[in-house]
Amino acid sequence: MEIYELTALELSAKISAGELTSPEAVDAIYNRTEALDGRLNCYIDFDKEKALEAAEAAQKRINSGEALSPLAGVPVAVKDNICTKGQRTTCASKMLGNFIPPYNATVVERLLAAGAVPCGKTNMDEFAMGSTTETSAFGAVKNPWNAQFTAGGSSGGSAAAVAADEAFIALGTDTGGSVRQPSSFCSVTGLKPTYGAVSRYGLIAYASSLEQVGTIGKNALDAAALFSVISGRDKRDSTSLSSAPIDLEAIKSTPDLKGKRIGIPADFFDDGIDSEVAERVLAAAEVLKSLGACVEHFSMPLVKYAVPVYYVIACAEASSNLSRYDGVKYGFRADGAKSMDELYVSTRSRGFGQEAKKRIMLGNFVLSGGYYDAYYKKALAAKALISSAFGEAFDKYDFLLTPVAPSTALRLGQGLQNPLQMYLGDVCTVMANIAGLPALSMPCGFSKQGMPIGAQLIGKAFAEQEILSAANAFQRATDYHLQKPSMNWGCADE
Ligand code: GLN
Repeated sequence: MEIYELTALELSAKISAGELTSPEAVDAIYNRTEALDGRLNCYIDFDKEKALEAAEAAQKRINSGEALSPLAGVPVAVKDNICTKGQRTTCASKMLGNFIPPYNATVVERLLAAGAVPCGKTNMDEFAMGSTTETSAFGAVKNPWNAQFTAGGSSGGSAAAVAADEAFIALGTDTGGSVRQPSSFCSVTGLKPTYGAVSRYGLIAYASSLEQVGTIGKNALDAAALFSVISGRDKRDSTSLSSAPIDLEAIKSTPDLKGKRIGIPADFFDDGIDSEVAERVLAAAEVLKSLGACVEHFSMPLVKYAVPVYYVIACAEASSNLSRYDGVKYGFRADGAKSMDELYVSTRSRGFGQEAKKRIMLGNFVLSGGYYDAYYKKALAAKALISSAFGEAFDKYDFLLTPVAPSTALRLGQGLQNPLQMYLGDVCTVMANIAGLPALSMPCGFSKQGMPIGAQLIGKAFAEQEILSAANAFQRATDYHLQKPSMNWGCADE
């Protein structure tokens, strides 16, 4: 077995047993990336020297017997909207093309404190706006299962890197599905934590009330281990909360799902869902049943408001968050402006891509006098209704099972041609962001074309332990997460 094929926890066990070193792990992942990334485009930057420096520091601490964390010595890929001190952080935008943060995001500080090794910045949709990575200023990420397809988005670089063994494990961010949907499309396991479980300090903001840093691993245990390292209250993010740390051993040893009640909201399976996807998710329900869970169908009609509510709130917040990019404070500045107004206009016209511009305009529209009540206020009211619908569901069920996305990965180019279809593709994931709930995506099969399909588990607030345990039990009973893309694409596939 090659080093890069190890899971993050297998790697850390080998490092702590002295069979491997952290710098050797960085080398392995760097060489793998060198070999494949010309085709896949998972990374925007991979600074090998910096990663080796961090790996050597971690290795010293491991050698000195310091008790670190379950990820001591493990290289972790970091999505490029998470600030890394002294290392370019672009948000896949021309606007921040040369931005070098003077500080680390809290999640990066926590990786370092845990002896993990930030290693490479992954490609994404510009400002995390998109579902395919095609809005990236650095070109789209290709799906390791078939390079004619997208890897999903916006954390497509992180998910594809883990799927292609270009990363042992990765951080992504999820505002409306950006950890779960690419995880589903690439057949890896992705966790979006409860709102407030992880600090957003140093995460470049898109829609602050919806987003969280999430974890992407080769299996549920890896995703859990990374979550245990990054979660917890941070005084620099007033929306972060302290919660009981998750217990990895307990997740690992959950024998079955006896006594668990799982609800399947029928409305998540409406017309727009591909029959192959519905079939695989319902087959996953049977596996959960065979593990002792009691599975029941119920109705959650508010799903039909999910996409409009999400896009109104996300665009409103984006228009405010992105107003800081004016050519003065950060990043790109257009040359030749003769006045302040001209500087703003030409910087933003040239610095932002199409999708970011569209969302800034939509956001300004829904917040403007005369439309605020009709759109933004209504969206907030619907958000409250959606949260209470989940509250009612969780009176009856421990967690919910749904598809992650209505289809498998789109072909490259398909999403940009039909943006409405792309937005509708977020229907299953945005619900958890709107309600601030934890949710994960786990591999549950493949389409006839051989493209991965994921199932989503949504839990009660701060029930990460519960959904990760269920996902681990599912993975002990199935082998979808163990299947690997062959990556033998012919030239015609590229
Ligand atoms: N696809 C969604 C969007 O375009 C979600 C993105 C995200 O979670 N960052 O907004």
